[in-house]
Amino acid sequence: MNSVTVRVPAKVNLQLAVGPLRDDGYHDLVNVFHAVSIFDEVTATAATGMSVRVEGESADQVPEDGDNLAIRAALALAGHAGRPYGVNLLIRKSIPVAGGMAGGSADAAAALVACNELWGLGLPREDLMEIAADLGSDVPFALLGGTAIGTGRGERLTSLDVAGTFHWVFALADGGLSTAAVYAECDRLRQASGELVAWPQAAEALLAALREGDAEALGAQLGNDLQPAAVALRGSLAHTLDAGREQGALGSLVSGSGPTCAFLARSAAHAGELAAGLKDAGVARDVITAHGPVPGPAVV
Ligand code: ATP
Repeated sequence: MNSVTVRVPAKVNLQLAVGPLRDDGYHDLVNVFHAVSIFDEVTATAATGMSVRVEGESADQVPEDGDNLAIRAALALAGHAGRPYGVNLLIRKSIPVAGGMAGGSADAAAALVACNELWGLGLPREDLMEIAADLGSDVPFALLGGTAIGTGRGERLTSLDVAGTFHWVFALADGGLSTAAVYAECDRLRQASGELVAWPQAAEALLAALREGDAEALGAQLGNDLQPAAVALRGSLAHTLDAGREQGALGSLVSGSGPTCAFLARSAAHAGELAAGLKDAGVARDVITAHGPVPGPAVV
């Protein structure tokens, strides 16, 4: 086999509960991940060295060297296999870069699946999961797909039962937000307010809404503890979120560390109307519709 292409979805966090800052600089999280139908494609082609090229959505903002998460994933897999394998990776991006939709983690997960196939390693998903956890806290979910709850730093995952399909609208912003900067702002805001930070807990009503496929109930339960920090760093997000609510979204939130905003619709048709309304309101660089949950990375 000379080349393998893997398609991998973006994620939105339906609940992101952030615990107090730990001594090691991380936070304990309760993170309900939901994979949605916005896809990057990673093609792995046999080569002697390691290289990566990026095309598509905001490709100029993605490193094409050893900092690229997909190359780091390929190197980690070759290290695990104990052989000096080579690969050329071509990433076709549709997932917004630094948009809070875990595009880099998705590309890393896709690279693991593609290289496992290209190099004929035949490693089971459990082995890829271990490598994924070392690459970053969002990479294990990117490998799993569907809908799942993550605890710890987000990397201890349990898949969740979801009835039916939910329909989403995503408002993409100009430029990204650094995840580290958003966490730092969250800590700063909490310290300034003197608020006692609760231990993060899963919202039972949110899990029930997912089990029952109840979009109205899910919309009411969406929550992201990073949202005040993302809005503090990017004031325009408040207008974007307001516009979605005014246009009848069942719920709205900043996706992960932002600045992408997610809106839940009643149906595919309602998502189309909501997207058109948000485009007319001029509150986003681009507006796209998607559905979830969708499965994780797959060879195409
Ligand atoms: P998360 O939701 O996990 O916080 P994000 O969606 O906000 O992540 P990414 O798109 O993953 O952000 O990108 C974060 C940074 O990682 C970018 O600024 C980019 O420079 C770097 N990066 C490294 N590899 C990749 C990749 N393959 N795709 C996108 N960004 C990458």
